[in-house]
Amino acid sequence: MTKDLIHQAARMAAYIREYLFPADCPICGGELLDIDESWYGLCRPCMTGLFPGDEKRCSSCGRPLISEQGQCLQCREREAEPEGAHTFDGVFSIFPYIGKYRKLLTAYKFGRQLSIGNFLAERIMEGMERLPLTASERVLVPVPPRPGKVRKAGWDQVAYLGARLRKMDLKVYPCLKRLPSKSQKELNKANRKTNLKGKILCTKPVSGELILFDDVITTGATLDACAAALKEAGAEKVYGICLFYD
Ligand SMILES: [Zn+2]
Ligand SMILES: [Zn+2]
Repeated sequence: MTKDLIHQAARMAAYIREYLFPADCPICGGELLDIDESWYGLCRPCMTGLFPGDEKRCSSCGRPLISEQGQCLQCREREAEPEGAHTFDGVFSIFPYIGKYRKLLTAYKFGRQLSIGNFLAERIMEGMERLPLTASERVLVPVPPRPGKVRKAGWDQVAYLGARLRKMDLKVYPCLKRLPSKSQKELNKANRKTNLKGKILCTKPVSGELILFDDVITTGATLDACAAALKEAGAEKVYGICLFYD
């Protein structure tokens, strides 16, 4: 079977699954009516309203700029602090972690509506165009989960996106490992930074330009720790794509 046929069969399977066991649209609760809607796990009107705008973004954290140029105010303040600069070379963050966007992640991550992964993986692919990449080959590195987190949640939602991206012919290279540490969520900004020191390891050879991807960016401390491990192992540039910014 050719790749295209397999893809068509997967789309049809998503449609049949949605017909038999409807998950419905996580944003409006409406029925998913056709193959496209079932494949992306979203109704068409909600899907249309979800694409990121083309407004200017902060060159450091990827959040939309309001009236600033180049960098957002938060990033400027952070960089003025000692050791405040990010280790990664730039991030594009796609959606704000509020309202309908938050519902989207909740349905994917906690409701395990896997079809939404198809929608999110495509946004990651497009998001790469918003980074100042120069290498001809794009290598995507998933941010590793905290040990124990996968056991608790039952799955690794970032790794699943990696599997979807691979199906879209992108090179996904899981080369990072995370050692036990406190959850970043429970910590303040300063502690988030020190909590991960030496806790992320690169376990495979790396070089050139790499693109980390993750679901949510808050202070960027996790991405920084990943970028530090990759650079120490030989990467020259490390960029990031995050689906949501909090
Ligand atoms: Zn909807
Ligand atoms: Zn910023």
